[in-house]
Amino acid sequence: MSGKIKFEEVRLTSTFLDPRQDFRPTTVEFQIRRDPLTGRTGHFSHFGAIKPQKLDWEKYTDPQLKGFCPFCREYRDKATPKFREGILPEGRLTRGEALLVPNLYPYDVYSAVVIMTEAHVVPLDQFSRERLVNAFCVGIDFLRRVKSLDPSLSYHIMAWNYMPPSGGGLVHPHQQYFATNYPGNQFMDELRAAEEFYTRYQNDYWSELVAEEQKRGERYIGQTERVHWLTSFVSLGILGEIVGVFLDVFNVADFAPDHLEDLVVGLMNIFSYFNDNGICSFNATLFFGPKGQRFFPAHFRIIPRTFLNLRDYAPDMNFFQTLLQEPVSVVLPEELCAELRRYFAR
Ligand SMILES: [Zn+2]
Repeated sequence: MSGKIKFEEVRLTSTFLDPRQDFRPTTVEFQIRRDPLTGRTGHFSHFGAIKPQKLDWEKYTDPQLKGFCPFCREYRDKATPKFREGILPEGRLTRGEALLVPNLYPYDVYSAVVIMTEAHVVPLDQFSRERLVNAFCVGIDFLRRVKSLDPSLSYHIMAWNYMPPSGGGLVHPHQQYFATNYPGNQFMDELRAAEEFYTRYQNDYWSELVAEEQKRGERYIGQTERVHWLTSFVSLGILGEIVGVFLDVFNVADFAPDHLEDLVVGLMNIFSYFNDNGICSFNATLFFGPKGQRFFPAHFRIIPRTFLNLRDYAPDMNFFQTLLQEPVSVVLPEELCAELRRYFAR
């Protein structure tokens, strides 16, 4: 075993007199784990207590309830903005059904939205390879152009909220792409820790992690050519977290069409797993590090999201995530990995 990566966990129990068992003592187990890269902790508890809630897809297409959607085909040409000529002479980028436009509510100086489909509601099993490739393709193309236009913005991000439990404000499938010097605390914590790891061991953390997880076989899901898929030792999502690592992509300029194809193959496997398990919503990101480094390979993260129930629409985040900044998961990464592996073995 490599001594470079440590998987630390604390297993604890809590015992109480259980009304469901005539007030006999019941002992409940939980865990706290430490992320081997950043050192940030995460809780694992309430095992199996939260089930993904199936969304009522019909409701989202009902014209009475739908409301105005600027991304729908009949409005998108008129209702979405265009880039200035100095940024994108074409104003917008298009490929197949995908259309990239400026974000009306920008996250940074260069901030785009990719409207992924012409259809307003697209269940996961209708994300064809072509739809996914086209959307990522225009988004990555935009990031590469922005990188040449303004190299002072070091980091490049794709972010995707899919369906309302994820915080997505519009159900019409869309992704965000932006360049920034402020990519968020998770990104910066990883970047700093990855640089320290590289300085200490002269190898990048993710290469070591992939090798270590392949050896251990507990959280290594599989490989789609250039992408290695893992479940994270500490999950950022309540129903777990899946990471895809591109070991030979260090900034967005390295991301070739083959990488995109391999990402989409893996993503479609994950969507099949989501579909079979009633998962209807997620957050996803693709992180690209700055140029000139070899310690921060690009990686894709995806976490399922759900309402806790459809009576009150309670979200799956509470004081833990929002105020204590501590992720909580009800699924063990090793069990999630075992489930997902079947979808990557086809
Ligand atoms: Zn729409």
